[in-house]
Parts: sequence; structure tokens; C-alpha cells
Amino acid sequence: MEISFEGKHALVTGAGKGIGRATALALARCGAKVTAVTRTQADLNSLVQECASITPVCVDLADWGATEAALQDVGPIDLLVNNAACANLQPFLEVTPDKFDQAFSVNVKAVLHVSQIVARGMKARGSGGSIVNVSSQASQCALRDHAVYCATKGALDMLTKVMALELGPHQIRVNSVNPTVVMTEMGRLGWSDPEKAKTMMCRIPLGRFAGGGRGEQYFIPAERQEQHDQRSHSTGGWRLPGLL
Ligand code: NDP
Repeated sequence: MEISFEGKHALVTGAGKGIGRATALALARCGAKVTAVTRTQADLNSLVQECASITPVCVDLADWGATEAALQDVGPIDLLVNNAACANLQPFLEVTPDKFDQAFSVNVKAVLHVSQIVARGMKARGSGGSIVNVSSQASQCALRDHAVYCATKGALDMLTKVMALELGPHQIRVNSVNPTVVMTEMGRLGWSDPEKAKTMMCRIPLGRFAGGGRGEQYFIPAERQEQHDQRSHSTGGWRLPGLL
């Protein structure tokens, strides 16, 4: 099936790595004008090197004021992908307030804020549009050490429903996608341990995590790839078969 986003302007958050980067590149390939937002300039530099038509915006989305300033001149947006998120894994009894606040600031509050900025423009122009929030299966499934992450994604699902309710009359569609494990940098953080991975993998009929072999290759900077390899060697060198 041929998909065209010709004439559309898409904004993707967390576009420096992983799913967001692959989404930005895919949208650009399908003809969209793409604005890529993330907080690491080096990732934006390599993204623009890979696809020169992408417009980079470097900002920490946890910073409300900086986000407002960074997005004020991006122009009219037709499609928004709220993808940026962080996953700080801590056992429930060891959850710290700083990690809690950081996760809610990025995974929930920034989604609300960026959506407000974009949807206000859509409403004013009467153009309608589409917003996709990248949630997770973790919104519905209890995962060990993921108390805060699961809570942010549960909150995001409900935020998505209310956004859909309130923005629908302005012809703005709001949906979420709730992937299971994708072997990006975040996926590896949570699921590189073979014993832990088994508990998840055994419930996936395809018997593998997403993100390897077929389709997009997920971007992990070389130095972090090296760190990961060293880590996985020190824990026995186990790697998911056929992935990355
Ligand atoms: P990655 O960690 O690989 O990439 C996340 C991207 O978001 C990075 O570019 C990161 O930049 C950026 N980002 C994080 N915090 C901020 C911030 N404060 N301001 C601006 N940018 C920020 O994650 P994935 O690609 O794996 O995940 C993408 C989405 O998919 C997330 O919403 C995640 O919750 C969801 N998801 C992922 C799954 C998985 O298994 N990977 C499963 C289900 C859902 P930097 O590196 O510079 O911090």
C-alpha cells in the first residue's frame, strides 16, 4: 500500500533515537515536511545528515518555558507524534521523587503541553489534524521495576481519551499506539536480561521482540552501543536472536 503525506507538516518528539527517529524518517520518505524535536543535538545532526529535508529542534521537553519558545516558530502542524519518553527503572520500594517527577514531566506533562501548542493552531486554522501519542502495553500490564513508567503510560492513555473527546469537534483525531517491547535503547534497558525477557517473550505469539531483522533499524549512538555490548558481555553475552 502506498501512503503519501505529501503537503503535510509532521512534528515528531523524541526523534533523535529509536521509534521516534524511525517515525520521522518514515514520514519524510512518505513526503511529509518533518520537524524533529529532541534534546541531544548530536542526534539531530546525524538525523539531518541522513535526511536533509528534516528540520531539527533541540529542546528538553521537560522544560515548559523552553518548549514554548522552541516551538513558537515551527509553523502550522498537521500531524503530531508525541513519542518522547523516559523509562527510569526502579523497584517500587526504591522509587525516588526526582525520577518520578522526570518521568511524569516528559511522558505526560510534555505530551499535554506540545499537544496544546499544536492543537491551538489546528483549531485556529480550522484545518483539523491528527495527534498520535506513543503509549505502551505498560499502561495496562504490571511490569516489575516499571511502577513509575507504567503509571505514566496509564495516565497517558486517559489523557489521550480526553484529548480525543475535546479535540474531536475541531476535526482533530487523537489516538494512541501501545507497542510491546521494541529493541531500541529503551527496550534494551528494560529487557536485555534473558531471564526477564523470557517472561515477556513467552506471551508474544511471534516469539520475538520488535525492532530487528526486518523493517527499520533503530538508531543507537556508537558509544552507547559499545557500552551496551560491554554490559551484555559482562552479564554473559546474551543477546536476543536475530535482533539488531
Ligand atoms: P529511546 O529511549 O530509544 O528514544 C527516546 C527519544 O526521546 C530519544 O531521542 C530521547 O532523547 C528523547 N527524549 C527523552 N526525553 C526527552 C526530553 N526530556 N526532551 C526531548 N527529548 C527527549 O525510546 P524508544 O524509541 O524505545 O521509545 C519511544 C516511545 O515508545 C516512548 O514513548 C516509549 O515509552 C514508547 N515505547 C517503547 C517501547 C520499547 O520497548 N522500546 C515499548 C512500548 C512503548 P535523549 O536520548 O537525548 O534523551
